[in-house]
Amino acid sequence: MTTIEDFFTEKIKLPSPPAIALKILEAVRKDENSFDELARIISTDPALTVRILKIANSSLYGFPNPVDSLSQATALIGTNALKNIALSFVIVQDFQEAPQGSFDVTLFWRRAITAAVAAETLAEYTNLHDQDLFVTALLQDIGVLILYLSDTSSYMALQDEKRVSGKTTCQMEQKKFGFDHTEVGSHLLTVWNLPEVIHQPILFHHTDIVENQFKDASRILQFADKIASIYYGVHANSKCIAVHEGLKKHYQLSDEQTDQLIDTVGEKAREILDLFALDPGDIKPFSLIMQEANEELGRLNFSYAQIVLELKQAKQSAEQLAMELKMANDSLRELAFRDGLTGLYNHRYFQEVLESELKRAKRYNHPLSLLLIDIDFFKKVNDRYGHPAGDQVLQEVSNTMVKLVRRCDMVARYGGEEFAVILPETGLTSAKVLAQRVRRGIEQLEITCGEQTLSVTISCGIAGSENNQEHPVTRDILIEHSDKALYRAKKNGRNRVEM
Ligand code: GH3
Ligand code: MG
Ligand code: MG
Repeated sequence: MTTIEDFFTEKIKLPSPPAIALKILEAVRKDENSFDELARIISTDPALTVRILKIANSSLYGFPNPVDSLSQATALIGTNALKNIALSFVIVQDFQEAPQGSFDVTLFWRRAITAAVAAETLAEYTNLHDQDLFVTALLQDIGVLILYLSDTSSYMALQDEKRVSGKTTCQMEQKKFGFDHTEVGSHLLTVWNLPEVIHQPILFHHTDIVENQFKDASRILQFADKIASIYYGVHANSKCIAVHEGLKKHYQLSDEQTDQLIDTVGEKAREILDLFALDPGDIKPFSLIMQEANEELGRLNFSYAQIVLELKQAKQSAEQLAMELKMANDSLRELAFRDGLTGLYNHRYFQEVLESELKRAKRYNHPLSLLLIDIDFFKKVNDRYGHPAGDQVLQEVSNTMVKLVRRCDMVARYGGEEFAVILPETGLTSAKVLAQRVRRGIEQLEITCGEQTLSVTISCGIAGSENNQEHPVTRDILIEHSDKALYRAKKNGRNRVEM
């Protein structure tokens, strides 16, 4: 596996520190107390000088009186802090030149500076005085930038994969390179000869806090990163909750103190970003972020209610649809059982019903009768009045028969001008009475066809299945017998009933 050293020699030309940073570092290394030397180097860069004076006058330090010279700044801030500020400016400036892919370098520095401000502010709140925190927090993720610069497309792919997989950036980097950005950043700063107090906390800023002399700084870096992500990342609400819990646990800060701290970081960051010539972008006051997060939450709740409502409505219309479907099916079924011309039950359904009624009659020991009815001389009706008139006669005879039988009886069109009536729970005597009633009814029926009035008669054959356990009557036998009776009715003069 590639070691970090190999990586730097083979994969990436080790970025050298910007020239002026090198001079600053050397000067401080030579003589920790050389105020003058440091001030002299800084003053060779007028832009840098102006920025350092601005920062010395910023709310980050909050000195009561204006600081208007480098030597004054050095005396007030200290050589080390001044060196760090100078380094921060120079490095951020230098890495601005990085080629821009889909990785937003400006956003990277904005976030880094906000983290640096957060570290400085948190140190103040927790009474941890550490002059190196600002630059340490600022550079904590410089390894990300280095890995990105070494292989831009792979690193962007890694970031995409990270979003999908739910793994952390460090886990993804370990998988891809065998080391992560904490190691790369720490290594780079070691090679640049930055002190241990800077590169060691960076090495530990993503791991569980290790019990060593850098543990306080490491923890501050972790919170600083989280606070910065409230301003730059997504899910501000959940990050905010994590910061509140963490600061309460480790520094005993109340919720109000933490809210205030986060707000202060936002305000100071805007000022400091300006000094770094970085557009503060859309860094918003914390209260606005929370308001937006709450609004978002409200929208989510609203859309949740909306979804529930829509589901209910969908359920209702599904039920409605199911009911309509059932009704449609019922009427389809009904249609399949009915004869198109007369609306009576059709032949097939008649056969089914006769079968089941026979079984029922047998089971309950009930009689059952069947009438077969045929219109007399129907052919003549067609011949004399035409086929449509014949159809009308069929319809009116059908309607009349339905009216004349009982509700429990079933009238079917057996075929052509023949009909069948099933009479459940009816013996032959009652069947004969009913058949006569039907015959008379049809006989009396006057059918108006255009300007003419016509009437028809019917002949009827009856057969019954009196219960006979030894010789049960089948459907075919019943039909055969009633057909024979009908034949007799025709032969004996029509318009009559035979059993
Ligand atoms: P019978 O008294 O012996 O029963 O004589 P009929 O003329 O009624 O009997 P036949 O079987 O000779 O004639 C039946 C006629 O019924 C023949 C056919 O054209 C007619 N028919 C059958 N179905 C329909 C129909 O749906 N509409 C019309 N208009 N006529 C039909
Ligand atoms: Mg006939
Ligand atoms: Mg016939």
